[in-house]
Amino acid sequence: MIEKSDFPEARAAERIVDPALSEEDSDLELSLRPKFLHEYIGQESVKANMSVYIEAAKSRKETLDHVLLYGPPGLGKTTLARIIANEMGVNIKTVTGPAIEKTGDLAALLTGLQTGDVLFIDEIHRLSRQVEEILYSAMEDFVLDIMIGKGPSAQSIRVDLNKFTLIGATTRAGQITKPLRDRFGIVMRLEPYTEQQLTQIIQRSAVLLAVPCERDGAEELARRSRGTPRIANRMLKRASDFALVMGDGRLTREMADIALNSQEIDKLGLDSLDRRMLEMIIKGYGGGPVGLETLAAALGEESVTLEDVCEPFLMQLGFLSRTPRGRCATDLAYKHLGILRDGQQRLD
Ligand code: ADP
Repeated sequence: MIEKSDFPEARAAERIVDPALSEEDSDLELSLRPKFLHEYIGQESVKANMSVYIEAAKSRKETLDHVLLYGPPGLGKTTLARIIANEMGVNIKTVTGPAIEKTGDLAALLTGLQTGDVLFIDEIHRLSRQVEEILYSAMEDFVLDIMIGKGPSAQSIRVDLNKFTLIGATTRAGQITKPLRDRFGIVMRLEPYTEQQLTQIIQRSAVLLAVPCERDGAEELARRSRGTPRIANRMLKRASDFALVMGDGRLTREMADIALNSQEIDKLGLDSLDRRMLEMIIKGYGGGPVGLETLAAALGEESVTLEDVCEPFLMQLGFLSRTPRGRCATDLAYKHLGILRDGQQRLD
């Protein structure tokens, strides 16, 4: 049984387009997560490869190799980890990197695993150095080398572990150390979803939530959900509220539009913070370059919010470029905001 505590880092989502997990999402996601590979939409090459590895491990009656999944938040890493365990027919234990504070915490987790079980460590780039070092021998040789005591009486003991599969997930592949990365036999990158795939995800979720959803409505949400299933599902939930209260319960394109406009999400999925960020670069700093910290201070926002939530999407749209001297708004950004290069607001 999956408990709410499986989402220890969940927090309130202030912005509907924030791809990070919020408290509200936890319940929603439990009901919407696909459980089998064939229900997992998109990520075709990841799915094709993964199903080969799973079949091969099963037919050899072997434990699956360790898997590293990376990609932006909300793209389906946790979902895929659960699917892998499900398809292998094994148990999964879920934990986040920073929650494993001491080597003893890791030892308790590892010694509790049965043969073939999956240990899923989310945000694996945030493991402490000591914990990470213990993990090396556990992953490679399935043994734990732990030091007991301190000083001259310290003793190293070796504990044999059952063979297990570690699935690590990270949004920051660049922050994984080489020795850790090298111990994963399977490394996979999840990509943002196309509009068509997001439409399919929204339609599937609408069926599960018993929301009557027209194709146009699903497409409108898909277009504006930044390539991210978590955002798409969250938008579906909000839009279905609008459809219920302001319409006849059917999620039409009009209802989707009203719901997203009320959250100040524009036609491409930019929200007010994305637009304020671009406007600040353009109007405050002549289009850039401007440093991230300066920009964050000028906007009264945390620089990590700008870096993790706004920038990846703005760069994907080609609205923002990162140069060694700072961030710059591109011509496309000027065009989207209706601002001319000389600072005039366009009339159209
Ligand atoms: P991550 O771990 O990468 O932050 P999650 O696995 O928690 O993302 O995915 C967020 C939500 O998006 C899930 O609860 C699930 O409902 C939905 N989702 C993600 N990927 C898919 C997919 N490929 N098909 C259908 N739904 C998906």
